[in-house]
Amino acid sequence: MRIDLHIHTSPRSACSYIDPNELVQEAQRLNLDGICLTEHQVIWDIGEVEKLAHQGGIKIFRGNEFTTNQGDILVFGLYKDIKEMMMIQELREEVSVAGGFMIVAHPFRGFKTFGIGQLQMTVEHACKRKVLEFVDAIEVGNGKLSPDENEMARKVSEKLGIPGTGGSDAHRVDEIGKWLTVFEKEINDERELVQELHAGRFTAVSA
Ligand SMILES: [Zn+2]
Ligand SMILES: [Zn+2]
Repeated sequence: MRIDLHIHTSPRSACSYIDPNELVQEAQRLNLDGICLTEHQVIWDIGEVEKLAHQGGIKIFRGNEFTTNQGDILVFGLYKDIKEMMMIQELREEVSVAGGFMIVAHPFRGFKTFGIGQLQMTVEHACKRKVLEFVDAIEVGNGKLSPDENEMARKVSEKLGIPGTGGSDAHRVDEIGKWLTVFEKEINDERELVQELHAGRFTAVSA
């Protein structure tokens, strides 16, 4: 199953220009099997998701993108809004209690411009990032990042043996599906999505 794990829609994500109905149409045009709504700090109402999925005949799953002191984290299996910035430890505890799954989003976005001292950031150095101790997976393919930035995440994922996911991080319709996560098994609901994530039965692929 080809699923775009990381998408923002308007108006729930203020930074996005994607109308949810247009998202469903575009996902169908691209022959995706599923899409995930990962708004910033806001979880979709399940009834509204079902309505949208029913209209479009596509699987739609809910996630969330939380802001933490260690950067942005995609979360599946924790269905609540958390408006304030969280400490990564707090989020980890909440997600673990809920049996959810945490993915560090775009972990090396802008790594070449962090500062002069990090211009030559090595993979070894990158592997020491604190956030990596708290997550279940690393987003190794993010549609908004440069190939270099995604490549660094991929190398870190391989070196640490942490699974890698892909998602477009789309904020505009033409960005949908740029990166995907391909799952080995059929996924029918959010519970199965979280289960397959925990099982590690997936690979990140670019469109
Ligand atoms: Zn983000
Ligand atoms: Zn995002």
